[in-house]
Amino acid sequence: MLTPDRVVTTTCPYCGVGCQVDLLLKDGLIYRVNGRFDNEINRGSLCVKGRFGYDFIYSPDRLKTPLARDAHGGYYDITWDEALNKVARNFERIRQQYGPDSVAFLTSAKCTNEENYLMQKLARGVIGTNNIDHCARL
Ligand code: SF4
Repeated sequence: MLTPDRVVTTTCPYCGVGCQVDLLLKDGLIYRVNGRFDNEINRGSLCVKGRFGYDFIYSPDRLKTPLARDAHGGYYDITWDEALNKVARNFERIRQQYGPDSVAFLTSAKCTNEENYLMQKLARGVIGTNNIDHCARL
């Protein structure tokens, strides 16, 4: 069996259950993911996503910067400041033109509770809509 250079304890990135995992690394690459037994959440178990779904980490197709659409339907790199300003300007324009309920927010189980809380504050407190939902709501 391969001996890891390093073991990183973390939380599975896939859903709100929050299973605890050990990432086993060799030469800087994750080669195995084990469920941790020392917690009340997953007690060593992982579903197929949490156990095997880590190929995306090394994909050359991962986005490294925000993208904006050009006039021909293509994309070009922009900075985070440019992206956030663009989103804020467009939110404000749409809200002014069509009203606050023309905008909706969908949050993700991949976000932390704090990030989800901030998203509803943005929706209700800044945009002025209750159109806020979450992918894990049944
Ligand atoms: S291992 Fe499966 S159930 Fe556990 S947090 Fe990850 S995706 Fe959710």
